[in-house]
Parts: sequence; C-alpha cells; structure tokens
Amino acid sequence: MTGATGTGAELSARFEAAFMPNYGVPPVVLTRGEGCRVWDADGREYLDLISGIAVSSLGHAHPALTAAVSEQVAKIAHTSNLFINEPEVLLAERLLGLLGAPGRVFFANSGAEANECAYKLARKYGKANGRGYFVAAENGFHGRTLGALSLTGKPSIRDQFGPFPVEVRFVPFGDADALKSAVTEECAAVFLEPAQGEAGVVPAPDGYLRAAREICDGTGALLVVDEIQSAIGRTGHWFAHQREGVVPDILTLAKGLGGGLPIGACVAFGEVATVFAKGDHGSTFGGNPVACAAALAVLDTIEREGLLENARSAGARLAEGIASVDHPLLAGVRGTGLWLAAVFTADRAVEVQAAAQRAGFLVNAVQPDAIRLAPPLIINAAEITSFVATFPAILSEVQP
Ligand SMILES: *Cc1c(COP(=O)(O)O)cnc(C)c1O
Repeated sequence: MTGATGTGAELSARFEAAFMPNYGVPPVVLTRGEGCRVWDADGREYLDLISGIAVSSLGHAHPALTAAVSEQVAKIAHTSNLFINEPEVLLAERLLGLLGAPGRVFFANSGAEANECAYKLARKYGKANGRGYFVAAENGFHGRTLGALSLTGKPSIRDQFGPFPVEVRFVPFGDADALKSAVTEECAAVFLEPAQGEAGVVPAPDGYLRAAREICDGTGALLVVDEIQSAIGRTGHWFAHQREGVVPDILTLAKGLGGGLPIGACVAFGEVATVFAKGDHGSTFGGNPVACAAALAVLDTIEREGLLENARSAGARLAEGIASVDHPLLAGVRGTGLWLAAVFTADRAVEVQAAAQRAGFLVNAVQPDAIRLAPPLIINAAEITSFVATFPAILSEVQP
C-alpha cells in the first residue's frame, strides 16, 4: 500500500476538510476491487451493483483492461492532438463500425465534454441555417458544464447558474405530441436520452425516439441522442437507440466506454459530421492513447465474453428477482438490461442504500423513492442471487 494509510473514518474527515462541499461526504472509502467485488479502507467486502455510475463495465481489475492500460502507458501515455496516436484511430473506426452509419468522431474526456461538442455542433449548424433554440426533456440530465447544464431539465441544479447562451425549451419526457408542438423550423436541435438515468432509470415509451426522429426530419432540427449512460452494452445492446432502429444526427458517449478510464465521445452522422472546420473545437487530453486503449479493451471484451447477451440475461434475472419480492416498501422495478431501478412506495431510498451497504451491497439512491442498479456487465447469476436473496431483509431494516 502506498500513501493510503488511513482508516475509512480518518479519510472521510480529511476528505471533508480538503474538498469543496459539492458532493457531501461519500459513505465508503474504496481501496481495491476484483470482478464485481470491492473492498473498503477497513477491509470490508461489498458486491458492487453500481459500477461507479455505470462506468466499470468490466468490473474491477479485469485482466484485459489492466493489460491494455499498462502496455499503452509503457509505450506512450500522451500525444495531444498535435500528433496522431494509433489507439484513437482504431477506436474511432471501431465505434463507427459498431454504429454502422457513415460518421465522424470527436474524443473528449467526460460526458459533459462530449455534450459540449454536440452543443457547439448544433449551435454552428443552427446559426448557419437561421435556427436558434434547443429542445430538451424535463428531468433530463446532460452534465454540469455550462452548456450541458443548460440542457439539463432539473431546475434545482440548473437555475442558479443561468442565464445560458442558447434558449432551451423543456418538454415532458416521453410525450411525442408535446415534442411535436415544441419543435419548429426555428429549432436547431433536440437533445434526448433514450431513458433518463439520473431521473431514476425512467424509460421512454416504445416508439418515442422514432417519433423524435420523424419530428426532427419534418422540421430540419438535429436529433442529438445522449447515450452517455445507456450505451456500450448497458441495456444489452451496444447502443440503446439501435433497439428503435433510429440513426441520430449526433450521439454522445462516455461512462461505460472506458471501463473506468476517463473518455467521452461525440459522433456525428451525415452532413453534421463535417460541420466543424479546422480550429472550431479541441481538447488537449481528448483521444488520449491510454484512455483509447482502455476503450478498445472494453469493446473487445464485451464481444469476446458475450457481455451484451449477459446484460440481457443477467438483467432479466435481476429484474425478475426484484419483482418477485413481496414487501410493502417495494412498488416495482423498471429499466432494461443491467440498468434498473427498484422503486419504493415511500421516499426511503437513502435508508435502503445505507441498509444495503451494511449488508455488503453497493447501490445508489438515485431518487428519493428509487435506488439505481447498474452492476458490471460481467455480473454472474450467483452474484445476482445473493443480492435478490438479501433484498427483503434489507427492505425490512428500513422503517416503512
Ligand atoms: C453522467 C451523464 C452525463 C455527464 O457525464 P460526466 O462524465 O459526469 O460529465 C451526461 N449525460 C448523461 C445521460 C449522463 O448519465
């Protein structure tokens, strides 16, 4: 062990003293992981059912990710965009191949930055075509930087940082008629998630993305699909929008793509792919070879280990297991693949998260009445069964 000599309680106190208060103080100090298991600073073991918010898609310390990152960091760790590196070219080509439509890629380092790229593309496209405002969904989440925040439909985290450079009109998520009324020939772009992760894994009704595609085609607005949380196998498909047979104009990716290494991507299709001219956008770290090597290892491993299929079958097992629990606090389960929320009959998610932690399971109180489950895509049946078997006792620890 190097440096990390503190116990959980000590490190929590030091975290609180040294960090801005924007996160509060997280409840556990994690020191290492292996597969779907993680250990805290006091040596306690947990089953990780949240993967650092749908990020650690291969779990922890996966040999393929460890090898790819170690080998690349030993060759060259950084080139900047003044120079080309091979992993970034391979990764861009690989993503375009999985998407199956002609397009171009920009690499960033986070989800918000991927959305900033989409925002600037849509802004430039709009200005060139006499189009101004954007449309986004109420309760949607697109990130914390000012552009991405302006698209985020949650007044409590948005309003104190306005005004924003582009007008964004918000519509109820999943309501195709409301979307149709909001999108005119003056609208530059519509930003949507296939299902709203931060709102509590709230799926859109079947056909919603298809309707959005038709509405955008009818008016000339761009359709931007934010798959930062939903893509790279999370729903049992490489990309959630593929389930609806829709091709967006712009797609944004991050979270699960790097398997824990920071990387974001913005992919644009058709004529939008070449809206940026030389000098219009950039990122010093974007396309970093270590992050790109990690992403390539994630994509290879998903393919080699059949993890899309596992996300579907393990996800179904987890959803069915939760649905079969008969408890007055449990209202139901929603979501697709390994991207689920257990919904409660009262605002007890924080207490359920704490009770789950005491029982050795990491989950996320994503909403006052819902916990989010987004385990690594490698999770097996025995691990799911261990959670499902303990879930009634976890719920019973919480006051109704
Ligand atoms: C997490 C998330 C973002 C922001 O990503 P960061 O890497 O935190 O900047 C944007 N959109 C969606 C849908 C997300 O889930």
